Amino acid sequence: MNPKYIIVGGGVVGCSIAYGLLKKGYQVTVLDGGDSANRASRGNFGLVWLSNKGLNAPHYSAWTRCSVNAWRDFADELETLTGDDIHLEQNGGYDFQFSQQEMNAKIQQYEHLKEVLGTDYPYQVWDRQKTLQEEPNIGPDVIGTIFGEEDGHVNPLKLLRALVKAIKLLGGEFVSSVEVVELSKSMSQTFNVTVSSGRQYQSDKLVLAAGLGSAQLGPQLGFKAPVVPQRGQVLITEKYPPILKRPSGLIRQVDEGGIQIGDSKESVGLNPSTTPEMTAAIAERAIAIYPFLSKANIVRSWGALRIISPDGLPIYQESNTCPGAFLVSCHSGITLAASHCNLLPHWFEKTPDSPNLELFSEQRF
Ligand SMILES: Cc1cc2nc3c(=O)[nH]c(=O)nc-3n(C[C@H](O)[C@H](O)[C@H](O)COP(=O)(O)OP(=O)(O)OC[C@H]3O[C@@H](n4cnc5c(N)ncnc54)[C@H](O)[C@@H]3O)c2cc1C
Repeated sequence: MNPKYIIVGGGVVGCSIAYGLLKKGYQVTVLDGGDSANRASRGNFGLVWLSNKGLNAPHYSAWTRCSVNAWRDFADELETLTGDDIHLEQNGGYDFQFSQQEMNAKIQQYEHLKEVLGTDYPYQVWDRQKTLQEEPNIGPDVIGTIFGEEDGHVNPLKLLRALVKAIKLLGGEFVSSVEVVELSKSMSQTFNVTVSSGRQYQSDKLVLAAGLGSAQLGPQLGFKAPVVPQRGQVLITEKYPPILKRPSGLIRQVDEGGIQIGDSKESVGLNPSTTPEMTAAIAERAIAIYPFLSKANIVRSWGALRIISPDGLPIYQESNTCPGAFLVSCHSGITLAASHCNLLPHWFEKTPDSPNLELFSEQRF
């Protein structure tokens, strides 16, 4: 029998959606590429992060916060089902500041967001003294921090592994190392998906969550899918005993002990390699925050490609020409995993609990 849903793409976005659909009792097949595919879900920073998101797009800030606030329950349920520990910590996070002027500008942006959203915004302003109490290893130039109360981090590889495990435990089919080459909708309203071996899969509905692969596949179902790659380079040090209390957007101590560093953004096409110039720049910024890192041994570095829309915000779009096909694309798939799992199934099924995703439609481009 055909599954109700085919999900094209088995990264964190496709897997969060597949898991959410299976929990609601829908049959799902996930089709995912192989090791040579671009896979942001295996190279990212692992932040579950609200701060700085949607400062000029309040609806994105609100959507992000909704997911961040649902993350604890999402993680608990996933861990109970799979027996895996995905190491979620939501004890807040830092946005370290080096100049009073920049700090004031950021505070103004948060205050504006608060006004527009008509809600409180979970941030605190810490001076150097207070920052030192929490993180005694900060460098002399850090003047303070904007503390994001709801920020946190997770082990993104363990998250992905747990999601794939959950999909299988709930009876979903996960087909890896296949390349989807053709998508169409038949007269009988069935979606046909052809992979490079010639094999075909059919379903009633289809979710295109193929990351950068959506740019090629999307037009076959009437989507614009205007996403492009943006490279991020990341470093990780040798393991340390617990030394950093909380993550920042640039530096975090992972659950295994290494200190992960990285926040670069480069437009270099489909090129995920690392460069000595950028790794040096990243390391320099990190040392300004935590000088002890100047003595750390870097054990690994990698590059990975973000999936970026023209305005940087997610795209949630049902196809106008092939209804029942949905495009889901975003550049914060870890942060948004809880909402993708909990709420997107309602959107696909048009239930009364469907979130209003109108403003994220690709008609805006
Ligand atoms: C350096 C870096 C740091 C980041 N840090 C964070 C962070 O801290 N927090 C956060 O929330 N987000 C972060 N992100 C973003 C996050 O990683 C992505 O939003 C997320 O991984 C996107 O998931 P995805 O499933 O859409 O895409 P991907 O992980 O790229 O997965 C797409 C999948 O589709 C498959 N696919 C593509 N084409 C085809 C095809 N033709 N046939 C079959 N399968 C296909 C591929 O095999 C792949 O597995 C970061 C990203 C990068 C690069």
